[in-house]
Amino acid sequence: MDTFDIAIVGGGPAGLSAALVLGRARRRVVVIDAGTPRNAPAAHMQGFLSRDGTPPGELIHAAREEVARYGVELVDDRVEDVSDGFTLRLASGRTVQAAHVLLATGATDELPAIEGARERWGRDFLHCPYCHGWEVRDQAIGVIGSVEHAHLLRQWSDDVILFPHTTPVPDAGGLEVVEGTIERLVVQDDRLRGVQLSDGRIVARDALFIRPAVRAHADGPATALGCDLLESGLVRVDPEGRTSVPGVWAAGNATNPRAQVITAAGEGSAVAIAINTALVANPPVPA
Ligand SMILES: Cc1cc2nc3c(=O)[nH]c(=O)nc-3n(C[C@H](O)[C@H](O)[C@H](O)COP(=O)(O)OP(=O)(O)OC[C@H]3O[C@@H](n4cnc5c(N)ncnc54)[C@H](O)[C@@H]3O)c2cc1C
Repeated sequence: MDTFDIAIVGGGPAGLSAALVLGRARRRVVVIDAGTPRNAPAAHMQGFLSRDGTPPGELIHAAREEVARYGVELVDDRVEDVSDGFTLRLASGRTVQAAHVLLATGATDELPAIEGARERWGRDFLHCPYCHGWEVRDQAIGVIGSVEHAHLLRQWSDDVILFPHTTPVPDAGGLEVVEGTIERLVVQDDRLRGVQLSDGRIVARDALFIRPAVRAHADGPATALGCDLLESGLVRVDPEGRTSVPGVWAAGNATNPRAQVITAAGEGSAVAIAINTALVANPPVPA
């Protein structure tokens, strides 16, 4: 069995940033990544200083090259199970041993059951105005469900309609509200043109926003390890990124759904320093 100081589960911005710091700290590091980053549907990654507009895959490619220079082992696989100690069992059947585990497994957005929602996600069906607001500025915007989100979107466009969809019609504080359940997204020439309500009405819109529920990938390692989870399945951590299980840490969207790419990378870097400090205090027993 291969033995490492740290096994990082998840090779997105959080996991790879931690790997860079730990590799440079001369730790034996493995990153196991299933290759399903949260922002995969988006063509561009916005708001990352010096990399604004870079395709998300390009950032990951560059990051993997950087960490590999420091001897970090990159494994394209899925961690299926982790047991005490820690032994990680991968989907391929390989097992890996590590003194510390960092969960950087990210999260998934739960989309509503609206026809076309999945196909347009990250394109013109969006969640984060800080990621995509600039790109749809001054356009006809719809917001599903959240009055607060609709008011926020007014920062980018004066033409914002709130669709309560399946939620009670709220006091929208001056916003235009269109009642009715949205049945499908109307798409033409590979662009969102509007939404169709269940009574057949079509309301023209260029972009649609929602604040989706975010679920961590908690079905895997965090649950197996018995880490305390929040109701949403996100991993509960202390300010340094420690979970409730000694030796297990978490960073990025696995614990903080609001973390953008630069924030997730920053959290990965900070938790890596905390892990290295813990390893200096309690060095791993050589295999
Ligand atoms: C549509 C969309 C567009 C976005 N656009 C932007 C933007 O423009 N700018 C911005 O800053 N942010 C954007 N974001 C947010 C961005 O996706 C997150 O900030 C970022 O992905 C968080 O990084 P992470 O490392 O925590 O998780 P992720 O990037 O999701 O990486 C987690 C990795 O862990 C892997 N994994 C999970 N479970 C396992 C397992 N059991 N074994 C092995 N590997 C596992 C996954 O396959 C994945 O590769 C966007 C999000 C969405 C949904």
